[in-house]
Amino acid sequence: MGKRKSRAKPPPKKRMDKLDTVFCCPFCNHGSSVECRIDLKNLIGEASCRICLESFSTTVNALTEPIDIYSEWIDECERVNNLEEDNTTNRYEEEKEEEDDNNNNRSEEE
Ligand SMILES: [Zn+2]
Repeated sequence: MGKRKSRAKPPPKKRMDKLDTVFCCPFCNHGSSVECRIDLKNLIGEASCRICLESFSTTVNALTEPIDIYSEWIDECERVNNLEEDNTTNRYEEEKEEEDDNNNNRSEEE
């Protein structure tokens, strides 16, 4: 109780100039279709594309900015892409092994 340590600086006061809240969509590649919203009451940040309707949400804090939500979304997309690439690689290697077997058989005959 009463264990509220306020670390570091307090968050900056509300700025009047708008930060970028519109980004390029990783799914449809539309240049400015992704909008980020931050709900500080519920500590939820959401990025969504108004063209292809893909969306992403994550937890935020008082210091989270729209670009943070967006880059988290990109990270998540890359992680998924990498998983898919791994599957493709495995399948390719299996095919290659069969080829190697054929080669071995031929050299045994000689
Ligand atoms: Zn999109």
